[in-house]
Amino acid sequence: MKARYLTKTRFKLGLECPTKLFYTSNKQYPNQKLDDAFLEALAEGGFQVGELAKCYYPGGHDIATLDYDEAEKQTLELLKLDKVIIFEPAIRFNNLFVRIDILVKDGLHFDLIEVKAKSFDPTEESPFTNKNGTISSEWLSYLYDISFQHYVLSSAHPKAKIDSYLMLTDKSILCPSDGLNQKFKIVRDASNRKGVKVSSSVTGQDLNPRLLTLAPVNEFVNQIYEGRETKEPKARAFVDEINYLASMYEKDIKIVSPVGSQCRDCEFRCSSEDESTGLKNGFKECWSNALGWKDQDFLESNILEVWNSRKKDKWLEEGKAKLTDLCEEDIKPKPDGDPGISPSERQWLQVELVQKKTTEPFFDSHGIKLEMDSWTFPLHFIDFETSMVAIPFNKGRRPYEGIAFQFSHHVVHEDGRVEHAGQFLSTKKGHFPNYDFLRALKKELDQDEGTIFRYSPHENTFLNLIYRQLREDQSGLSDKDELMAFIKTITYSSGSSAEKWTGERSMVDLWDLVKRYYYDPSTRGSNSIKFVLPAILNSSKLLKEKYSKPIYGADQGIKSLNFKNWAWIEEIGGAVIDPYKKLPKMFQDVSDHNLELLTAEDELRNGGAALTAYARMQFSEMSEYEQNELSQALLKYCELDTLAMVMIYEAWREWIKGTSNG
Ligand code: SF4
Repeated sequence: MKARYLTKTRFKLGLECPTKLFYTSNKQYPNQKLDDAFLEALAEGGFQVGELAKCYYPGGHDIATLDYDEAEKQTLELLKLDKVIIFEPAIRFNNLFVRIDILVKDGLHFDLIEVKAKSFDPTEESPFTNKNGTISSEWLSYLYDISFQHYVLSSAHPKAKIDSYLMLTDKSILCPSDGLNQKFKIVRDASNRKGVKVSSSVTGQDLNPRLLTLAPVNEFVNQIYEGRETKEPKARAFVDEINYLASMYEKDIKIVSPVGSQCRDCEFRCSSEDESTGLKNGFKECWSNALGWKDQDFLESNILEVWNSRKKDKWLEEGKAKLTDLCEEDIKPKPDGDPGISPSERQWLQVELVQKKTTEPFFDSHGIKLEMDSWTFPLHFIDFETSMVAIPFNKGRRPYEGIAFQFSHHVVHEDGRVEHAGQFLSTKKGHFPNYDFLRALKKELDQDEGTIFRYSPHENTFLNLIYRQLREDQSGLSDKDELMAFIKTITYSSGSSAEKWTGERSMVDLWDLVKRYYYDPSTRGSNSIKFVLPAILNSSKLLKEKYSKPIYGADQGIKSLNFKNWAWIEEIGGAVIDPYKKLPKMFQDVSDHNLELLTAEDELRNGGAALTAYARMQFSEMSEYEQNELSQALLKYCELDTLAMVMIYEAWREWIKGTSNG
């Protein structure tokens, strides 16, 4: 039988929730995480950082095999040398097994280096700790990870003296050369494991100054060993916890954990279709065991759905698991002085509508009408697609510089006419697109004084970021001042900005308006546009009538830049099919399961399909045909993002008319 080792990934999973260790070892429990290493690397970014780190250690030996025994054999052979640098060495101790990113051996001294694609500011005082000396939650999982590796390495080599380091991208360093990020390409290899190809042209100049910095972390490793990393009491000492998790995993014994708010994001869920094929739903199993729930209980709304609440664990402790178990006292709704409903009133509204079994949406037509009265036509609806790249495109730029590569722009005129007025997409390899993006956006928006809408603070944050990039830019841009002034007219200054402003045309956040004036019970507490759009399409008569005809992109219909004679609405069994589901597949070679996960959206941002597509065009080998197909798909998705905002506006306008007529 294959040995069952506790690895870095499994240890991390066990720390999140020990029950997950049992589910992860059993194929009967599907997992809602990407199961495509290539795609995961693109979606998460930072895959290049690991390769760049290796460039700082010339002469290092790479252990490429995935086979545990073979990797360990090769490692042991290399460790016979007095001085050696090994990439991905395999270290085993009893039922524990780790692959270390970089190990530098010098006699009995080891440097244990964990490379993380995370930015770090070495000039910051105590970046890893809180004021009270405990480890900051931002760094805790990374430091647990390296402490685990330290334990395995020191147990396997008890005589060694080990120094532990995190290697991180240094925010304070400017990229030393042009085109560095294009020197690391990602390829899909035959075993479907991601592989990074390093161009042979990485030069000494590319590596000096270093974009990655070594942060010594011995003191935090000790802190974790001694259980002083947080204030919370620990059930077991760190080493005992490792051995406990390893032993339970080895014996395939399920550790039963109490259910709680953490279950909301549990990946061990599956659809009822999956269940009907014999697959098991880990989430359901935990909740059935803890609460005695049967299948029909899972159809009802539960407290994990309550929007933006921190009281979920408390409610569960009190035996309140469904929305029907809650009373007004549990939420204590109260106004916050701003127009519309406050967050606590919205939470109570969500509970109340479930308790009253109503499917009718809540809509504050008076409140929205007051907002609408302050808007100026034509209305502009914009959406950005952006990315952060670990290694900059150009000399002089910082790691994790924000990249704005796409926008879409819809306009609604005073007479109700809708048009997809403009778009921008830059996927040119190695090109820093932000200034072209901004120039194109300016051209779209500075024709008039119409109100501009976004859906989330993201667009404001990103324009602030481009403002800072422009301010620091020393390349002699002729329109620098003009572009910076434009940003100031349509944004407000973000929290960290030393300069303060509120633009006279500062964008209106439609997401905020949704939260304060509108709630549809079918969204089950989510305000993400991917949930709000189908809800509003199902409840608006006007939208159903208008968009079920193939008018979108038609000669006499709505102007579109990417669609022709398109009907957005199609109903099955009285319910509108989600328009996003009708779009072409973003990636032809990706399973529906993975595609679904990539396009899943959290409250604020797309799940990452667009940025994964962008990363793919930048950092992987693609034919021109594939690039074009992917660009077309990106344009269509982004167009729907701004059309969705228009549709929300149109439905609201219709409802207001209905109330004022009636
Ligand atoms: S449902 Fe909750 S308790 Fe069960 S594995 Fe997931 S997070 Fe852990």
